[in-house]
Amino acid sequence: MTVEDRLDDVRSRIAKAEQSAHRAAGSALLVAVSKTFEADQIRPVIAAGQRVFGENRVQESRGKWPDLKQETPGIELHLIGPLQSNKAADAVALFDVIETVDREKIARALAAEIKQQGRSVRLYVQVNTGLEPQKAGIEPKETVAFVELCRKELGLAIEGLMCIPPADENPGPHFALLGKLAKECDLDHLSMGMSGDFETAIEFGATSVRVGSAIFGTR
Ligand SMILES: *Cc1c(COP(=O)(O)O)cnc(C)c1O
Repeated sequence: MTVEDRLDDVRSRIAKAEQSAHRAAGSALLVAVSKTFEADQIRPVIAAGQRVFGENRVQESRGKWPDLKQETPGIELHLIGPLQSNKAADAVALFDVIETVDREKIARALAAEIKQQGRSVRLYVQVNTGLEPQKAGIEPKETVAFVELCRKELGLAIEGLMCIPPADENPGPHFALLGKLAKECDLDHLSMGMSGDFETAIEFGATSVRVGSAIFGTR
């Protein structure tokens, strides 16, 4: 299968999952995760009409996305990997959506950069639903207060919540927990689901799914 075939396949699986969950067609946005792939491997996916992409490293993205964005207007780039505050300026300059806001220090750094650069960046708070020590994300019980702080004290427009369930667990309960927390925060965007579980995520209300290997192949 070519990358175009795999993209088509993912698109139709998303459409089918929306339908079986009685959701509107197009209500789950596909974020194509292009981390580790070179610009030349990404171009065919852009040519096939995909406009929303996810990357997990600021440095790697700086090497390929400025050119790709210049070539094709309307690209929307999401940062889905952990962010350090010394990279906040680069992240705000390049990304349209940052999905990994997970602590006060980074929220403050982003608020300062957004103001400084006058650039509007959409933000998600990452929640560590599995309480995994090695994984980024705020603890579920701290999520409501953290979203409040981001909004009220830092003036950040938080758009939704994001999670990466533990690799060895049934993802359903994690997706359900993220949905419950989003309701408590009065947020209606949920970034959840990857190649192995995006259909389940759509069933649990994902408004965007982050799919890498099912489109680009194994990394
Ligand atoms: C790599 C990555 C993905 C995509 O994973 P696949 O299993 O390749 O679809 C999604 N979300 C995050 C945060 C990632 O780092």
